[in-house]
Amino acid sequence: MAHFDYDLFVIGGGSGGVRAARMSAGYGARVAIAEEHRYGGTCVIRGCVPKKLFVYASHFRDEFADARGFGWTLGERSFSWPALVAAKDREIARLESAYRGLLEKAGVTVLAGRARLLDPHTVELGGRRLSARYILVATGGRPFVPDIPGRALAITSGEAFHLAELPRRIVVAGGGYIAVEFAGIWNGLGAETTLVHRGTEILRGFDHDVRRFLHAEIAKKGVRVLLGTEVRSLERRDGAIAAQLASGETRLADAVMFATGRVPNTEGLGLEEAGVALAADGSVRVDAHSRTSAASVYAIGDVTHRLQLTPVAIREGAAVAATLFGGRPTPADHENVPTAVFSQPPVGTVGLTEEAALERYPELEIYRTDFRPMKATLSGSSERTLMKLVVDRATQRVVGAHMVGNDAPEIIQGIAIAVKAGLAKSDFDATVGIHPTAAEEFVTLRDKVVVTRAAAAAGTPI
Ligand code: NDP
Repeated sequence: MAHFDYDLFVIGGGSGGVRAARMSAGYGARVAIAEEHRYGGTCVIRGCVPKKLFVYASHFRDEFADARGFGWTLGERSFSWPALVAAKDREIARLESAYRGLLEKAGVTVLAGRARLLDPHTVELGGRRLSARYILVATGGRPFVPDIPGRALAITSGEAFHLAELPRRIVVAGGGYIAVEFAGIWNGLGAETTLVHRGTEILRGFDHDVRRFLHAEIAKKGVRVLLGTEVRSLERRDGAIAAQLASGETRLADAVMFATGRVPNTEGLGLEEAGVALAADGSVRVDAHSRTSAASVYAIGDVTHRLQLTPVAIREGAAVAATLFGGRPTPADHENVPTAVFSQPPVGTVGLTEEAALERYPELEIYRTDFRPMKATLSGSSERTLMKLVVDRATQRVVGAHMVGNDAPEIIQGIAIAVKAGLAKSDFDATVGIHPTAAEEFVTLRDKVVVTRAAAAAGTPI
């Protein structure tokens, strides 16, 4: 048998790569990992984690306002953006070193620098050639900004975490996860925020009720949402940035943030030379076991363009480790993956949207409620909460659960277990609610609307 320096060489120290490396080492494999920037990757360094910290920071404005209704009188308040950025940076540095520590404790050789494939078993790193029985590509992705005049004036989520000052006015381009989350952050921190999205509604791919409801909620909070238009060009004007929109309107802002999707990091890695086939969008093609067209090369996470979610990349990494070194060939499971948008209020969702369910099942029962949360009765907030269950009429299985409202991600995580387990509406009904909570609505929903594919095809609006 050929001798290799390592059993597994992982390129990319993000959540997926780190999990695969640690688990493989745990199975007894000799593992090395290389990262060219900071261990932790997109999620820890410039994604989910700092984003969530900023979301917390931006909630306080509403909380101070809510407090009055409960008898509190608050003194003078001020917000320091540099203090928030510095606190966030300390936490990210702590997490980064924790990631490295976990790898080292697991016996993984932790390397710094950009690795490149020379062939399906060899990588080059800082002038050294290292061989491995298997190579795992976990290099993630980066923001995509359309090629418009003045593009260099735009920022992305990457820069948003390090701005020297909080913008007073900001335009956010895009209508996906990142655009909606950051619109809430900027708005909550006091910036005059405009969201510009080319589509007919924000959050394409989400349930139509969720999309409309969230749009209305963020607009109530002060985000100006412009649909059916896009940013055509940017230029400096009067110490600001003028964003010219396709609609003819010009918005003046202190920052223009593009959140218009992400592209996989596959360039300059020697992938094609090593026989790794790429898809038209540049992502790495993989099979159900995350194996590429080169038998010894695997790929996981955002570089493969499956579901771009950290916990999914982690599961894919764990599955590769189990397949290669655990004696358990394990395909990546992308069924019923719960997800959340940390908008304000947040969205939690699992399973099928009403539209997707109707493609799979001819008849559905839709349970839906929207209500004013209890806290709003005294706070006076006009915020509302939406909950929705999508049930396959024939089997009575709950095939989708959706929520917009406070704690939606926390609540849907629990509901996701039931949906993943394939439980029926009667199982939800048999569960006693916790009172008084918003979550109890999920086990007390009684009023249903029957939606059929035939009616939808006949044009009855859903
Ligand atoms: P998304 O794919 O979610 O959204 C991209 C948005 O940009 C869409 O609204 C899209 O419009 C729009 N867009 C794309 N290209 C253009 C263009 N050329 N001009 C104008 N608009 C354009 O990407 P994000 O960048 O928001 O996030 C990337 C991924 O990261 C997400 O899909 C998600 O998987 C993950 N993520 C997850 C989070 C979480 O779990 N909470 C948080 C943040 C990111 P259209 O709909 O018309 O295509």
